[in-house]
Amino acid sequence: MGNILDGKKLADRIREDVKKEVQALNRIGFDVGLAVLLAGDNPASLQYFQSTLNACKKVGVTAYEFRLPENVTANEILNIVHTINIDERINGLLALMPLPAHINARRIINSIVPEKDVDGLGAISVGRLAADESSFQLFKQNEKDLFQQFRSLSSIWSFLPCTPFGVIRLLEFYDIGIKGKHVVIIGKSLAVGKPLANMFLAKEATVTVCHRETVNLAKFTRQADILCSATGRAGLIRGSMVKNGAVVIDVGINILKDGSIVGDVDFSSVSRKASMITPVPGGVGPVTIAMLLENTVRSAVRNELFKSPLMMG
Ligand code: NAD
Repeated sequence: MGNILDGKKLADRIREDVKKEVQALNRIGFDVGLAVLLAGDNPASLQYFQSTLNACKKVGVTAYEFRLPENVTANEILNIVHTINIDERINGLLALMPLPAHINARRIINSIVPEKDVDGLGAISVGRLAADESSFQLFKQNEKDLFQQFRSLSSIWSFLPCTPFGVIRLLEFYDIGIKGKHVVIIGKSLAVGKPLANMFLAKEATVTVCHRETVNLAKFTRQADILCSATGRAGLIRGSMVKNGAVVIDVGINILKDGSIVGDVDFSSVSRKASMITPVPGGVGPVTIAMLLENTVRSAVRNELFKSPLMMG
């Protein structure tokens, strides 16, 4: 059976580090704040809202809750986002998806200033990742000259979306090489599949992206050294679709009729072929919230850092 990639273990490690950074900031008089906005009462979003608030509490991040009714107008949400954008106590904003159907979600996400877009889904953040200009890529290119990097980042700061960045961090945590590997991603959403493809490309992998119109999915999945599924289709990936020894990352979250939670991957058949595999729950999920906290504390550090005249880019 494949070895388990334990997301909870990595999430605990990230949260411990975040907690220490928050305490260090508190000692010099700075608070770290995250706004969490939920419109309507989608049960999955409500659950994520609560988990985020609990996670903030555990690491000492102050959560600012914005719970809005299903019939909230776009204008009301835009005004709240504007208030958050200019609130010095708040370092990041998570707007939970889906927003009510009458709201243009992209308009809302794009109204968050990039410095507070800790979920990394605004057009600026997405574009910077695609243009090799995210902090992820800049830090990689010239690791020695950190001071210069901070100066250049003062004008082009952005954050990486939490779930795909969590996938990369999970692979790194388990020392799984990415360079030169054939990575097959199933799903091309803005929140997961697309940014994940860009991150793997930045790590010099060969990347194939499949989606619901891909003909003969198994032909592609069988070629994967690293297979990532993010579709929301329970049981989509079966053992026969996976190469022996592949690393399998299951991003999918599906709630079955009996209330149990499974991923996209048929765990029992795939784990017999895979060398390493993420469980659901307990794989990518816990890392996602930990990455949100990490992005928020990075935003707080950056905000304080760039108040220093030395750093003005
Ligand atoms: P989405 O609906 O925006 O995108 C789904 C993608 O899967 C699409 O690109 C679609 O083309 C593809 N797809 C759907 N059916 C397919 C099929 N039969 N064959 C091949 N491709 C298919 O969803 P999303 O926001 O990207 O989320 C995907 C899944 O990941 C969901 O289950 C979601 O709950 C989960 N998710 C988990 C986390 C986490 O923290 N673990 C975070 C975000 C999303």
